This record gives sequence, structure tokens and C-alpha cells, in this order.
Amino acid sequence: MGSGMTMIPKPLDRRALEQEQFLKILSREEALVRFEAALFPRAIPIERRRLADVLGAALAEDITAPIDVPPFDRSNVDGFAVRSADLSAAGEGAPVRLALNGETIHCGTAPTLQVAAGTITPIATGGPLPRGADAVVMVEHTQPAGSQAIDVRRAVLPGQFVSYAGSDIARGEALLRAGTIIGSREIGMLAACGIAEVNVVRKPRVAVISTGDELVQPGEALAPAAIYDTNGAIVAAAIDENGGEAIFLGAIPDEEAKLEAAMRGALADADMLVLSGGTSKGAGDVSHRILGRLGQPGVIAHGVALKPGKPLCLAVCDGKPVVILPGFPTSAMFTFHDMIVPVLRRLAGLPPRSDAKVSATVPVRISSELGRTEFVMVSLVEGRNGLIAYPSGKGSGAITSFAQADGFLRIDALADRMPAGTEAEVTLFTPHVRVPDLIIVGSHCTGLDLVSAQLSHGGLTVRSIAVGSLGGLAAAKRGECDFAPIHLFDDKTETYNTPYLVEGLELVPGWRRMQGIVFRKGDKRFEGLGAEEAVAAALADPGCIMVNRNQGAGTRILIDRLLGGARPEGYWNQPRSHNAVAAAVAQNRADWGMTIAPVADAAGLAFIPFAEEHYDFALVTARKQRPAVQAFLEALGSDEARVALTRAGFRPA
Ligand code: AMP
Ligand code: MG
Repeated sequence: MGSGMTMIPKPLDRRALEQEQFLKILSREEALVRFEAALFPRAIPIERRRLADVLGAALAEDITAPIDVPPFDRSNVDGFAVRSADLSAAGEGAPVRLALNGETIHCGTAPTLQVAAGTITPIATGGPLPRGADAVVMVEHTQPAGSQAIDVRRAVLPGQFVSYAGSDIARGEALLRAGTIIGSREIGMLAACGIAEVNVVRKPRVAVISTGDELVQPGEALAPAAIYDTNGAIVAAAIDENGGEAIFLGAIPDEEAKLEAAMRGALADADMLVLSGGTSKGAGDVSHRILGRLGQPGVIAHGVALKPGKPLCLAVCDGKPVVILPGFPTSAMFTFHDMIVPVLRRLAGLPPRSDAKVSATVPVRISSELGRTEFVMVSLVEGRNGLIAYPSGKGSGAITSFAQADGFLRIDALADRMPAGTEAEVTLFTPHVRVPDLIIVGSHCTGLDLVSAQLSHGGLTVRSIAVGSLGGLAAAKRGECDFAPIHLFDDKTETYNTPYLVEGLELVPGWRRMQGIVFRKGDKRFEGLGAEEAVAAALADPGCIMVNRNQGAGTRILIDRLLGGARPEGYWNQPRSHNAVAAAVAQNRADWGMTIAPVADAAGLAFIPFAEEHYDFALVTARKQRPAVQAFLEALGSDEARVALTRAGFRPA
């Protein structure tokens, strides 16, 4: 308080505060502050371990070098120890003759004779320099002159081929700092200094429990209405990745007594407990209710203004952190990485995870709910000026969105959007992220997998991001991808794709595919009709529901052309892929839509051909020479790909 005023805190009504904690949704920041205040500062348990046993541990003390490394002035080559002044006149045509001293200095032998002016002593790599010598001449630049002398054909500078004592590590220098994760390099530094044991942080033992009647462990048979326990496996692995030692205790059904026994057992043994599921205040959700009975102060936050992740529950029971993550795997991951990892790392004596944060530009505007901190999954690609973060799969739920995502970004609770061009901090799910070798952004096609499979088998990683033809073109113009697959019809020239190219892009022919209307077999409204007639029939029936495509998709342009301005029911249902259109019709959520023939076939739907379109690739010329681009072009032209495409119902160009 720079003004000199003093804030007098109002006395707190403890009970009112506790009730408020239950009723009030806390902001992300407030929940974190309260959670950390209840846990820290605290003494972190340490243990002494031998070098052979410290890989991956966090150092618990600063280490000062007890000796110089190397401990003496050392020769770096096989040759002769000399006085540089003796050789000032030496050259190829003018060798200088020096008298050989009567000892050879091997590795591990201490010299006994001085190198006096006009003399020379043989020395091996690693040997200690004798008194009097100030440089080493390589054996290649010498010639024996009888048994008592050596001719030297090179002048040497003082210090040549000598490593001085302490030049690697100086005695008294700070060698390693507390909090360093010990890798092979650190073990080497400790060994070079002769240190055999160090104090490391004892890894926190973190018990993991999944909750839910519906959960089955991987490897077991999936009963009807059951799902596999995903959180148990991910959370345990993420704990190990962040310095903890996970103890996975399985999935416990939503039965209060059973769950309470499991939680008590876990806390008796572990330093921390992480559960998932059962926090939503629903009838069957019991885990959060048990927390009040497991120790003081109990629940710190239940309900945090996060999207997704609102049901997060944070507690401290007799000094041990207990966390209940939301049940949805993506929500569990966001909240774990964003809010639990920092606490876990402090318990593990590790610094904040700098290797798991990268900065990346967001190429599109992302809208966001005001009042809640929002997490958005992103995939990273290499752009012209650094990394680009594409938002992928918004909303909680599907584990599959992990497949395309490298991490997530956070939109502040006070923001209603993140504008395009924002430089955002991305939290990586795993720090050793590999930016893909080939990036394809644009229209989605099942044929694409048939071509990129060859690259994957050759060890290249391919990332394809479905944003529609126009989105892909925009990305290609910005240089954010290698290829943009497009299928765009130009009314004026009545041709595909070429009219849409701009300078810096070139067209690589792909394949032809039949777009058409899909409907369920046996639907009398559409049977036997052509595409225009089928759409007319659909528009004539108010009970008929369509499924559309997203803005920017080439398919959407065809649909809008057929609809001619009409907006029938279902028009606003706009999924992003051919498969989703087929699924909506097959599952009776819609009656018709437009997709490609192979997808209609695979879903068992009836198909009315409308237009054979050209699915081609806009190649970013500046990226043409990249090895992965060349590999893709080769794969595209291969017999193998042509056969696979033809078999799947496409017509290679
Ligand atoms: P809950 O918070 O328990 O109501 O769970 C919310 C959603 O997440 C439900 O669809 C659960 O089936 C799902 N869920 C809960 N726990 C897991 C888990 N360990 N693995 C996968 N899904 C889960
Ligand atoms: Mg549940």
C-alpha cells in the first residue's frame, strides 16, 4: 500500500464462508489462489539417492562443484609437450630440432621431468602437462630425428591443445540448482565432480480413482451402455509426466460407502488423491459429498467458472490435496493440466512446466462465453513466422478430439472472443510435441487417408485439418499449410479450382468424386428422382428435414445452388464432414443431405448423383521442395494410391 493506508480486515464468519464456498462458483484464479493457500508453504520430503538411481528425479539442493574439472592442465591430443617459444621459427621447410626428455606421459601418469628450453616430452591425449611446458604439438607435425631428438614442423601458440584445470567446471561454481530434473547430462556433471549421492525430492505418491457405474477397464469386455475408463489411464500418465508417482486404484461404482472406503484407503497411503467423475451434483454423484468427512479444511472450491470443466472440485483433507476432476475426458484433461499440474509440480519440487508452453498465432476468430475461462483445443502447424494454433473440436466430451490436438489455449473469463491474429499461449498435452511433417488444410475427403497412409508408413507425420475448401485456400495463401485440398466450382468459367488459385499457389490434380443427394433406402419421397427433382420434393414436404454443410465447404456451394435461396428445416444443422452428413441421415436425424458416393455407400444409403467434382490440391509453391511435400506428390502418383482410390469409388485424375 504505497499510500500508507492500512486495510483493516473485517472479521470473517467462518460458517458463512464455508457455506459460500459451496454455493458460489469461483473464478479460475480465485479457486487456484485458495487451493494453493491451503497447501503452501509446506516442507517437501526429500531423500538421499545414489547416482544410479536419480534419473528423472528433481534435485532438492543446490550443488557446488567441489573440484576443478579437469583437475589439471591436460593434453587434448596425442603428441609432444613443448615450450611454445622454442618453436617460434618452425615451419614446413624449417623444422626445429628438440631434445627428447626421458619419459612418456600416459593417461593417469604424473610427470616427473621438467620440459626445459630446447626439450620435448611425448604425451598422450588426457595426460597432465609437465612443468615448463605450455603447449602441445600434434604427433602428425613431428618427425623422429634418431632416438634422442624430434623435428617439429609447426609453430604453436601458447595453450594450443591444452585444456586448463577448471575449464569445464570450476571449483566453487554453482553446478546444478535445486529443482533441476536430473537427466543423463546432469548425472555426467555430478560424476565428473566425484559426487556419488544427492538429495532429491521424494516423488509425491498420487492415488487415482475413476468413479462411475458405467466404467469398464480397457481389456475387459464392453457391456451395453458401458464405456471404457479413459480418465484413469490419462490422469495416471499425466501424473507421471509431471513428477508424481501415480497409483491407479481402478474405477469405483457410484456407491457412497464403497467410494468412501476407497478414498480413505487411498489417503492413508498416498500424498494426494485425484478422482474423476461424480461431481455434477446429480443424484448419483457422490464423490464430492464424501470430501467433507475426510479431514480439514475439506472442500475449497466446488464449481469453477470454466468452460468446459465447471464441476471441478478442489479439497484439502488434513494437508493432502484431493481433486475431483470433471467426468468428461477432455474437461478432465483441461482442468488437470491447467489447475492441478502446477500444484503437483510444486509438491514434486519441480519448476513450472516451461517446456509444455508454446506461443502460437490464432488464425481465426474464436468466440467465447463471457464470465467463464474457456479452454479451446488446438492443433499446431508451422507457419511462415512461427507456430499457428488451429482450434479443433470445441466443447467437452469426445476423446477423439485429442487425436488432432497438440494442446489447448485459454480464453480469459472477461473476453467474449479471441480475435484472429492473437498471439496465444498454448499448453501442450505432452511437452515433446512433434509438429507434423506435412500439413493439409482444407476440404475433407476419405480418399486423402488412402494417399497419406503411404507417408505414415514411411515415418512421416501427416496432419489434415478439415476447414472446407475456402478455409484451406485462405490458409494456403497465408503459407500455413503445404496443400489445400479444394473442390470449388466457378460459375463464370464453368471449371473447377483453377480460377481460385492466386500467385504463389499451383494446382496438383487429385481425383474426381461424385457428389449427390443421400436418403434412406426405401424413402418413397426420393426414389427414382433426379437431384433437382429430389430437392423440389423435399422442399414441398414440410416434414422433411435436411442436413446441410458448413459455410466454406465446396459441398455447401452445390447445396445452396440446388436450394436456390430456400431455407428448409435442418438448414442450420451444418456439420463439417461427409461422414457426419451420412450419419445424420442414416440415424434418422435428417432425411436428406449431400455427400460423396463412397461415403453414402459405406453408410448403406441411397444416392442420387448430382455432379462429378474435381477434388484437387492447391500446393503452396514456396513449400514444394520440402521432403514431405515431395513424398506426398510421389504417393499421389503411385499405382498403389490409384488402385486404392479407385477401389474406394474415386476416379484418379
Ligand atoms: P459425471 O461427472 O460422472 O456425470 O460424468 C460426466 C460424463 O463423463 C459422463 O458421460 C461419464 O460417462 C463420463 N465419464 C466419467 N468418468 C469417465 C472416465 N473415467 N472415462 C471416460 N468417461 C468418463
Ligand atoms: Mg459419473
